[in-house]
Amino acid sequence: MEYQTGPFNGFRFNKALGQNFLTDKNLLSAICDDAEITAEDTVVEIGTGAGTLTEAILNTGAFVYTFEVDSRLEPLISERLQGHSKYKLTFFDVLKMSDEQFKEICPGPFKVVANLPYYVTTPLIMRFLESDLPCRSLTLTVQKEVGDRLCAKEGTADYGAVTVAVQSYCDVSVKRIIDRRMFYPAPKVDSCVVTLTMHDNKFGIADRALFRRTVKAVFCARRKTLENNLKSAFGFTKEQCEFIFRKLDLPPMIRGEKLSVAEFVSLTQAISELL
Ligand code: SAM
Repeated sequence: MEYQTGPFNGFRFNKALGQNFLTDKNLLSAICDDAEITAEDTVVEIGTGAGTLTEAILNTGAFVYTFEVDSRLEPLISERLQGHSKYKLTFFDVLKMSDEQFKEICPGPFKVVANLPYYVTTPLIMRFLESDLPCRSLTLTVQKEVGDRLCAKEGTADYGAVTVAVQSYCDVSVKRIIDRRMFYPAPKVDSCVVTLTMHDNKFGIADRALFRRTVKAVFCARRKTLENNLKSAFGFTKEQCEFIFRKLDLPPMIRGEKLSVAEFVSLTQAISELL
């Protein structure tokens, strides 16, 4: 494991756990504003670190369930949060927790606010989106490139399977850019704060498993035409592909990366009629 020592009472930072902490009080309070946290909210924080963001969330009056994997942080967190009582700290990896275990700790609706360890960004987002947990929104500090991917428009280089998957559940917006020097220790890249607000299945996706399969098929070879990807993933004939293209009113040589999320939903529906 690679460690770097620094402030925070000589705490030895573990790079492998994505330990890059935020300390600027104005920035931490701005992240809470981005998440639109009020005193009535219940917040889930992933990655307590030294408790600096936890403290900012607690200052809004909200209740915080905060999860951390590194128990060496316990003394720093207790010191930072002394005087606060509206929180529950759990040393556990949320990715390894079942929905039932999670609900035992946090039973009601919640918003996620987190300065995420970079290596778990996508699995953590998908863990909440694909579960039945009553998650209302996620306000996340992520690498700037990841933020660009999450809110990308169809036909751009950033648009990919993760974009379509996330936007099929949420409205996504980048709230602010965070210079790498705002973290201790400073990572190699800049970050941004992105908010994912769950919409109520506004695209009317009926078959999630087939939708996922469709998105995967289209992006597994993004330089190929949509027709070729459909033929290899679903074994469709040229005539079946023509049926789909007529139904969706798409040009025959189109690449799948040009399809909007709504068109992915129509494509899934057309595919289901042929299977
Ligand atoms: N919230 C603090 C802040 O803003 O300064 C710390 C953020 S730091 C980028 C990420 C934290 O997540 C680290 O303290 C790390 O130990 C913790 N962490 C890493 N993987 C985790 C996981 N799977 N579940 C919970 N916490 C995790």
